[in-house]
Amino acid sequence: MFTDYHLHLRPDEGGTTFERYFTSENVERYLAAAGAAGIEELGVSEHVYRFRQALDLWSHPLWVENATDDLDAYCEFVRATPLRLGIECDFVPGAEERTAALLEARDFDYVVGSVHFVGEAAVDHEGWDVWEGRGDADEVWRRYFEALAECARSGLFDILAHPDLVKVWGRARPLPERDPRHYYEPAVEAIAASGVAVELSTAGLRKPVGELYPSPAFAEMCVEAGAPFALSSDAHLPAQVGFGYDRALEFLADIGVEEIAVFARRQRRLEPLPAGVGENR
Ligand SMILES: [Zn+2]
Ligand SMILES: [Zn+2]
Repeated sequence: MFTDYHLHLRPDEGGTTFERYFTSENVERYLAAAGAAGIEELGVSEHVYRFRQALDLWSHPLWVENATDDLDAYCEFVRATPLRLGIECDFVPGAEERTAALLEARDFDYVVGSVHFVGEAAVDHEGWDVWEGRGDADEVWRRYFEALAECARSGLFDILAHPDLVKVWGRARPLPERDPRHYYEPAVEAIAASGVAVELSTAGLRKPVGELYPSPAFAEMCVEAGAPFALSSDAHLPAQVGFGYDRALEFLADIGVEEIAVFARRQRRLEPLPAGVGENR
């Protein structure tokens, strides 16, 4: 089976666009793209910070600027479509209980946990760039993977999104001097302890780094630790649904992964991966 769970129905930019993109016509476009790519399980996972309710978790200026939509209207809309209902929820240190309350009050099929920030600065957002004025790559990577470990260990999430997002800019930002496996280690330990599924995301192929998330070394460490994998494109447009799945499939085969995690109402099961992919993928 193929899934595409970590998926957005709209671009990240553009302000209040809920009514424009959360329409049955737009969902149809995503479903058609999924059909062409041979994806049976399609789900949506909007960013938590697009919802007013997220301001209970954090009041970062970027969140305040973006928190315009209603989370319950989103859940209601998605439940009336064939899509699985997910959410991409940032791990906010110190807000674990409020995060649990927000998530448990809704009937999500799965929750994708992500780390986009190291402290107040973002690893993937130019407006809040962690690299501005600083730039000790070893320190940034250490802090990023420590946050990822905390995210996994929190037990709040079903899937750990784009696990090495810190590499998103590739050579356009400083790279650590130490072997990255040194930084992966605490995160992989936490992944093993928590049982969270690790996302293989093709989104990195569309970013300056030009690689899948996570790196082969990180993925191999996860396999050794017995972690299950989930598969997603992190699409923000219908044309990105199932993007790069041929590469993903090859990657998973190379590290000996033959099954992926499938979710319904936050219950996980493992399903075998198909041998081939749909057209143009
Ligand atoms: Zn993300
Ligand atoms: Zn995303």
